[in-house]
Amino acid sequence: SEYCFFYMAMSSSEPVVHVAFLASAGMGHLNPCLRIATLFLRHGCKVTLITPKPTVSLAESNLISRFCSSFPHQVTQIDLNLVTLDPTTANTKDPFWVQYGTIRRSLHLLLPIISSLPTPLSAFIYDCFLVTPLFPITEKLSCPCYIYFTSAARMLSLFSHVPVLAASNPSSHEHLSSFIGEEISIPGIASPIPRSSLPPLLLHPNSLFERMIMEDSPKLSKLNGIFINSFEKFEGEALAALNEGKVAKGLPPVYGVGPIKAWEFENVEESQRGYMGPILKWLDEKSEGSVVYVSLGSKTETRVEQIKDMALGLIESGYSFLWVVKLKMVDKEEEEDLEDVLGSELMSEVREKGLVVKVFVDQMGILGHPSVGGFVSHGGWNSIIESVWEGVPIMTWPQGGDQKITSEVVRISGVGVWPQEWGWGSQDVVKGNEIANRIKEVMTNESFRVKAAEMKKAAREAAGVGGSCEVIVKKLIEEWKRNV
Ligand code: UDP
Ligand code: UDP
Repeated sequence: SEYCFFYMAMSSSEPVVHVAFLASAGMGHLNPCLRIATLFLRHGCKVTLITPKPTVSLAESNLISRFCSSFPHQVTQIDLNLVTLDPTTANTKDPFWVQYGTIRRSLHLLLPIISSLPTPLSAFIYDCFLVTPLFPITEKLSCPCYIYFTSAARMLSLFSHVPVLAASNPSSHEHLSSFIGEEISIPGIASPIPRSSLPPLLLHPNSLFERMIMEDSPKLSKLNGIFINSFEKFEGEALAALNEGKVAKGLPPVYGVGPIKAWEFENVEESQRGYMGPILKWLDEKSEGSVVYVSLGSKTETRVEQIKDMALGLIESGYSFLWVVKLKMVDKEEEEDLEDVLGSELMSEVREKGLVVKVFVDQMGILGHPSVGGFVSHGGWNSIIESVWEGVPIMTWPQGGDQKITSEVVRISGVGVWPQEWGWGSQDVVKGNEIANRIKEVMTNESFRVKAAEMKKAAREAAGVGGSCEVIVKKLIEEWKRNV
């Protein structure tokens, strides 16, 4: 059907709408980028996808090639070959943050790429981590420019409100840690953000994330719009506060195009199907809603000290579980076996009740399986939205970044639970019995189930024919056509 859209667009005498996308690093950023790109492809647009190379993980490079080969006539892919930097200057060991920094310092290489595109651009849409260094380039473009924001509207509210906070405390506006008090009250948003929920890097003076938010947030007003994977029923309050100018004055429209569906190209290829086959078969044998799915995202390694209690908790919960284990942040480096960490005795107990895998799974395929009744997640925004899409109640266990802020969205919306007393995943080890109790809660609490089902329905309305996403996409395409 993708081809069908393409021919419809080509056969009419309408101008071709050409949208360029620039991705950054990690699946949590690449997935929303390609999902939004697909929204425009399905409405007949032509897409140029610019991808920083080399990517950090195999999961990213695999997905990029699947995306491109699914739309051979509509997508042109161009590499942005990153400059080589001395990684010791990056002041972080996190390879994804090193990559964000490297991409930010390579963006001058983009101008020749954009200037040599054979068709003029109707719009340029790029990752939210790239605002300031792209500025000298986007200023020169004659098309409208947008970012896609990869987290919750609640997180975008914080991001956008930073200049207001800085201005209200001009004596110490250099570092976020010095002008933020015990909690941040954002106009239009009822529940304040406690300091302890902030992404830890933001409170580190001179971390890349801190510098980024300080530099980039005052420039949001120069954009033509911000895409976000959220929707009215889920985050209506924050979306309204942003769009009504309460959070910050002068913000461009915030387009809640979520939940952005996963598309066919995301299905893992045959070589990896080898893993999904047995997973789905195992799920098929379980009864409806009886399995806990456990995954801390695409780049969180579970600490060795925590793994044993996690295993104990899963066993004690009494539920069957599908546990995706990551022992290394970057997939290319996985080598150790879980058994080496757990020991053979505990490992055999784990195998009795659970299925443990150490691969990149088709998460949507799992969440959509009727046997899955609950999701233990780190609270990555994509994971939350995907769980909502499938109506699966969530227990979040924030490991870092924006995950306490996204967990608060889960709590407020009522689709699941966030055991706040656990703190960050990097703090004290959480005992097996506490984990078991929370798993039982997410699996049995009727109110989570009802809310999750309601949200699933709303999600499908928003993403369906005539829903909020389609309305926005069509409106923008019409606007862009007038400029061609
Ligand atoms: N994902 C997946 N299989 C895995 C791990 C992750 O498909 O084994 C996908 C997941 O569905 C989501 C993305 O990778 O779309 C991860 O993004 P998220 O924001 O949840 O967390 P992050 O990995 O960026 O921390
Ligand atoms: N964040 C974001 N957009 C921004 C600023 C921050 O999404 O413009 C969030 C982001 O989602 C992330 C955290 O702040 O979770 C930064 O840390 P991380 O490496 O975990 O990024 P992630 O890939 O999980 O989004």
